[in-house]
Amino acid sequence: MKKFDICIIGSGAGGALAAYGLQKKFDSIAIFEKGDWVKRSQTPLYALSHIYRDQGFVSGMGNALIGIPTGEAIGGTTVINSGTCFETPKAVIQEWKESLDINISYEELSPYFSKLRELLSIQKVSEDRISSGNKLFREGLQKLGFQNSFPLDRAEKECVGSGRCPFVCPEAAKQSTDVSILPKFLAQGGEVISNTSITHILEEKDKVLLYGKTKEGKKIKSECRTLVIAGGTLSSPILIRKNRLGSHWRKTGNELSIHPALKVLAQLSYPLESWNGVPQALGFKHPNFPALSFEGVFTPPQLASIVLPLDGKNLDDWLQNYNRVASFGVLAKDTSRGKVRSYPGFGLWVWYFLNQKDFLALREGARFMGLTYLAAGAQKVVLPFNGIQNEFSNFDELKNFNFSPLKPSQLYAMGFHPLGTCGMGRVVDDHLKLYGSQRIFVADGSVVPSSLGVNPQITIMALALRLAEQL
Ligand SMILES: Cc1cc2nc3c(=O)[nH]c(=O)nc-3n(C[C@H](O)[C@H](O)[C@H](O)COP(=O)(O)OP(=O)(O)OC[C@H]3O[C@@H](n4cnc5c(N)ncnc54)[C@H](O)[C@@H]3O)c2cc1C
Ligand code: SF4
Repeated sequence: MKKFDICIIGSGAGGALAAYGLQKKFDSIAIFEKGDWVKRSQTPLYALSHIYRDQGFVSGMGNALIGIPTGEAIGGTTVINSGTCFETPKAVIQEWKESLDINISYEELSPYFSKLRELLSIQKVSEDRISSGNKLFREGLQKLGFQNSFPLDRAEKECVGSGRCPFVCPEAAKQSTDVSILPKFLAQGGEVISNTSITHILEEKDKVLLYGKTKEGKKIKSECRTLVIAGGTLSSPILIRKNRLGSHWRKTGNELSIHPALKVLAQLSYPLESWNGVPQALGFKHPNFPALSFEGVFTPPQLASIVLPLDGKNLDDWLQNYNRVASFGVLAKDTSRGKVRSYPGFGLWVWYFLNQKDFLALREGARFMGLTYLAAGAQKVVLPFNGIQNEFSNFDELKNFNFSPLKPSQLYAMGFHPLGTCGMGRVVDDHLKLYGSQRIFVADGSVVPSSLGVNPQITIMALALRLAEQL
């Protein structure tokens, strides 16, 4: 049995940064990771089928079916994310303070944001790498009188704009944690134990025991003085519940927020080749929709059919002309909530109920994206709705279309940012220590207690660095 000062479960945004920070203080640190190192030569389909958990099919069920993809690899979901970076909004930190009595301030997190700028080489997307689909959306916004789109901050180094960020960056330019953090951790003597799942955890007075198995089925056992659980929002609550860790394990898995998101595609009369350049390059805030954040997106041609809510000839037309297609997305700072459980013989079960407020905001956000592309000269747009007219080529028709019969179950939606299932103030304290435990901490998206309204990796990483400094 191997003994460590610190064991960490998971090597994604939270786990890798906690490991990096803790290395300054502790001699022996091991990260246990279910997934493997990724190969840069993988195709988008390979990435979807091998690195996305359950081939990307994990979904929140409720009044809508909403895909909630996460990554299982060294680097976790950062390997398949878009690289976009936002600091935690000051207003959200204030909400935490007021409604959950969480004692964290923006000023306290600010040095960690600065550190992350350096570690992840965070920079704005340069004009020459903004994909044509993003630029077209900006043109549409300008025609509608909006001048406030902005280039996004991204974790990238020498990005050549190959348009594949969510399907493993082929150039290792995106600064996922397997590229930016874990090589440093390994160089300083840290250990990354790949292809190994932790299944059982036992906290004793002076140590924590971990049990798990490798991909090949070999059983492993380890011991540490302190454990950091960073398996992600869908996995950490399952581990804590199953092993009845701490005093609040019954509360884990609740209060799931996901940033439900929609995308709209537009077809132009001329080639755009939107797959060139950074797919998530521009952001936009609409003054009338404060809960919505608009961001660029583009799915590589190999996977185009899965993002088009069409069939037959209509689908054929969009696929044949994919070189003339642009797309943009919107996410909601959700007030809807869900929960995560695991059942014997069934496995992971995610429930999420999209409430009317979030649903209507998203519906109107999708309409607005369609109008923006039509204003920019698109021949037609397709909205992410099923069972109702979803293709439009006329601006006024879309503007005035009556979408009131549409229900949440007809949305073609995703939730890329699961958060909150071991929230601070509910399951862990504001130092991320599991209530009722002496030796177990949680440092991943699950501790973020409410919907952020912005992409979460920097919040998760900053909280993990703060934990490492305080431990
Ligand atoms: C397509 C997509 C695009 C995104 N784009 C952005 C973006 O542009 N910007 C942004 O800020 N965020 C983005 N995100 C979200 C962001 O990447 C995640 O919120 C973040 O990585 C979550 O960090 P985490 O530490 O909670 O978990 P993860 O990064 O998911 O890491 C958890 C790791 O733990 C491992 N694990 C789980 N259970 C066990 C176990 N029992 N034993 C061993 N290992 C285990 C998993 O295999 C996984 O590797 C995106 C997400 C997706 C899916
Ligand atoms: S645009 Fe291409 S090179 Fe740049 S980070 Fe994304 S996948 Fe990597």
